[in-house]
Amino acid sequence: MAFALQNSQLLVTKGLINGQWVDADDSTTVPVHNPANGELVAEVVNMGGAETKRAIEAAEAAFPAWSGKSSKERSDILEKWFDLVMANQDDLAAILTAEQGKPLFEAKGEIAYGASYIKWFAEEARRVYGDIIPAAQKDRRNLVIKQPVGVVAAITPWNFPNAMLARKIAPALAAGCTIVCKPAIETPISALAIAKLAEEAGVPAGVINIIPGADAPAIGGEMTSNPVVKKLTFTGSTPVGKLLMKQCADTVKRTSMELGGNAPIIIFDDADLDAAINGALISKFRNSGQTCICSNRVMVQAGIYDEFIERLAAEVSKFNVGNGLEEGTTHGPLITEKAVNNVAGLVDSAIADGARAVIGGARGDAAGFFFQPTILADAKPSMRVFKEEIFGPVAPVFKFETDEEAVAMANDTEFGLAAYMYTNNLKRIWHVSEALEYGMVGVNETAISSEVIPFGGVKESGQGREGSKYGLEDYMETKLICLGGL
Ligand code: ADP
Repeated sequence: MAFALQNSQLLVTKGLINGQWVDADDSTTVPVHNPANGELVAEVVNMGGAETKRAIEAAEAAFPAWSGKSSKERSDILEKWFDLVMANQDDLAAILTAEQGKPLFEAKGEIAYGASYIKWFAEEARRVYGDIIPAAQKDRRNLVIKQPVGVVAAITPWNFPNAMLARKIAPALAAGCTIVCKPAIETPISALAIAKLAEEAGVPAGVINIIPGADAPAIGGEMTSNPVVKKLTFTGSTPVGKLLMKQCADTVKRTSMELGGNAPIIIFDDADLDAAINGALISKFRNSGQTCICSNRVMVQAGIYDEFIERLAAEVSKFNVGNGLEEGTTHGPLITEKAVNNVAGLVDSAIADGARAVIGGARGDAAGFFFQPTILADAKPSMRVFKEEIFGPVAPVFKFETDEEAVAMANDTEFGLAAYMYTNNLKRIWHVSEALEYGMVGVNETAISSEVIPFGGVKESGQGREGSKYGLEDYMETKLICLGGL
């Protein structure tokens, strides 16, 4: 392990079931590697369906006491958890970088971002209001109360191993639910570390359970078929999301799906070019392009197309790609060799179809899973890079002439998560924002996500919202109590 922790207790490698840190039933483990150099970070337990079933039973047993606490009691525990996460920010970031690859400064940012959801939902826990609805009959009163849905199952990806989980566990606990989580097997240690801190904060046994394991279909199969689980919350790819939705249908579970994206960033002629370049750099290359709201298609109006590409390339040439644990690294590796192969395939196919690599265009030289930050000029909607989520540091730049053409191009995808535009024309801001078929639109801003906004997509990018006042709704049922004979 090439990193030191102040609190070595945080490097947990066992699963968490009913407050016990346990091995897999068959004692097997899975190695977790640093994607920058292949170094072994740790061997983590390899659990499956049987352990998942026990975790669900533990969550069911813990539910009455947890949901029976006052909202203030739950809120106080969440506040304490937030404090502990922030107090251990450096260690959590080091773990995250070691298993995921993003530079340390980005990892620290992710820890604070994840923690912001814990704080937010600690506050929101106390603001779960009901309703009194005027009745159609004189002798009745209709009351509406909100109640936790029950046991929740959560499945999360490797690109934000801390924040994707924090923003599911926090609202679940705030609402009074208990939860069983399956982190991605590439990055399970970040999940185990925050669960360790939750335990320290006073989250009772069985309220949070963590099942790391390589056999995702076995764990997901138990989560989706077990009738005790009332809701599945998933962040990951669209094909897996569709499969899980189908599996959930048999027991009519609620689902929240945060799936793939194909974000356009539309730069109009009248844009503040400095701001647009900065916004494109951040939204395209953060986490080396491995976020679901990363700009996937850079669309630039004809009048500024050449200048935009030249200036974007000048900025990209300043990147310092390397091991995220090393000082000065601005961009880390991709998560796996498969990811590098996928990005390479997309770039090769675009170049074969007539795109031009202004900068980059090939794999990195280093031993890890690197791909060079790349800008592709002369990109066309017929290319695969227009249709597929790239999930890598590659910016294909498309040219458009009119607003109508930009909107049509932007909407020409089955995805609908985030879209961005840069313009100083107020009329255009309204018309284009309203015409974009996306769950989130950033206008002259690409860093749009925070705990206070409803994060989520439309079309095949998913359903449900995370964060904000809307985020708690997904973890609660609406119940009518009709008082008659009054
Ligand atoms: P990505 O391409 O980002 O890895 P995936 O959708 O494959 O996206 O993975 C996201 C999460 O879904 C991970 O935790 C992964 O293990 C899990 N997963 C993948 N396939 C299944 C499945 N069949 N059932 C349950 N979970 C799955």
